[in-house]
Amino acid sequence: MPLRYTLLPLLLPATVVGLLVASLGTPSGAVPVALITLAGSLMALGLSRGALQRQLDRLERSTRGRAEGGNGPTPDPDRLEEVASLEGAIDSLHSRLSARNTELSQETRTLTAVLDSMAEGVWVTDAEGTVVRHNDALRGILQPGASIVGQRPLAILRDDQLHDAVMRACREGASRHLELSLEGLFPRTLSIRVTPLGKDLPGSAAVFHDVTELRRLEKVRKDFVANVSHELRTPITAIRGYAETLQGGALGDAKMAPRMVEIIHRQSERLSELVEDLLELSRLESREVNLKLGEVSLAEAAARAADTVRLKAEGKGHVVSLHVPAGLRAVGDPRAVEQVLLNLLDNAVKYTPAGGRVDVDGACEDGRCVVRVRDTGVGIEPRHLSRIFERFYRVDKGRSRDMGGTGLGLSIVKHLLQAMDGEVKVESQPNEGSTFTIFLPQAAPARSATG
Ligand code: ADP
Repeated sequence: MPLRYTLLPLLLPATVVGLLVASLGTPSGAVPVALITLAGSLMALGLSRGALQRQLDRLERSTRGRAEGGNGPTPDPDRLEEVASLEGAIDSLHSRLSARNTELSQETRTLTAVLDSMAEGVWVTDAEGTVVRHNDALRGILQPGASIVGQRPLAILRDDQLHDAVMRACREGASRHLELSLEGLFPRTLSIRVTPLGKDLPGSAAVFHDVTELRRLEKVRKDFVANVSHELRTPITAIRGYAETLQGGALGDAKMAPRMVEIIHRQSERLSELVEDLLELSRLESREVNLKLGEVSLAEAAARAADTVRLKAEGKGHVVSLHVPAGLRAVGDPRAVEQVLLNLLDNAVKYTPAGGRVDVDGACEDGRCVVRVRDTGVGIEPRHLSRIFERFYRVDKGRSRDMGGTGLGLSIVKHLLQAMDGEVKVESQPNEGSTFTIFLPQAAPARSATG
């Protein structure tokens, strides 16, 4: 029903007022009629207003109900036309808002999924530098005691540099990259990029990248280069020095010249050993060595390795005894297994004072082949035990070099065994001796002739 019909009653009182004015000069019977008509019109107007109010109330309830997620009351089929068209406009606004809302929540979910799938940690701050949101990775990287949201950078990481970078990004729109070292039980190095959010968007964002492993590897590489240069420089300096002395006239010195030539020879041998070891290690680490895995007789490998060190051992008055069962067969590369045993035996002979003992025992334990190389030498203090398999690590640098060591032998042992699915362990007591134990997969027992 159109609104104008509900206003019709207004026309009647206006007409009645007109009639009353006109009746002032007419017979008295017309006045009561006009008054009754006026009262009726006013009642009709009251009723129409009440109906409009009810329809507007209903519309309000239905709009509120839908805004709160419900359906609201069903529309009145007899509602006013104007109320119906207002309801139509509210309907279309509601549909457009719902569609936009769905789009926005879809975008938010996508953004959250992208942020949470990142390996880097991310936080976003408001214009005051307070963190308002962050992704999952950040919690793993920072391992904070309390909640990150609602905190200022200084409260989370206690670092002035980061705090300043965030405040400058928020206030001046400046970007900054910084690296932080976090102390604690698990020290970490973080590379952090702080940027302002954008012109119309107050606040900042920071991306945290855990570079601990990267920096560790860089240090290992730098140390390695420094170590190699140092190791190469020592023999090269000696060779050049003695060669120059010989050139300078010592060649004619019948007593000194042979000694100098002998030193040059020894140092050049050391140089070539070092280069050989370095090449071997680099091939092993880059997995360029193609080991030919097959059955290896550990007794034979130990005997060949012992033969190689025999002269040196006898020179020091050592007793070298082998107790490896003839039938003990491992899966491995024969040349690699022999090299492992040779390096261990060579060290045992080297680091045992004259007149010592070196024992090689073999057995099968828990389905693996085990060979132990025991000596009665200088031993190793517990604090060095976990490091002696590192490249160039020596307990006593001077002693190792004097004995012709390169500092690479045990590192080669470890890599060769790893390449054969084996491992090496060490036990040692200073001044009592050391035991190096190698483990290798056991070869399947040979089938009997009858099957
Ligand atoms: P090097 O060429 O110096 O012998 P290795 O890698 O073979 O290098 O050994 C690393 C260090 O471990 C040695 O410098 C030495 O200090 C210690 N070491 C190895 N084997 C023994 C052993 N049998 N007894 C005592 N110390 C040992």
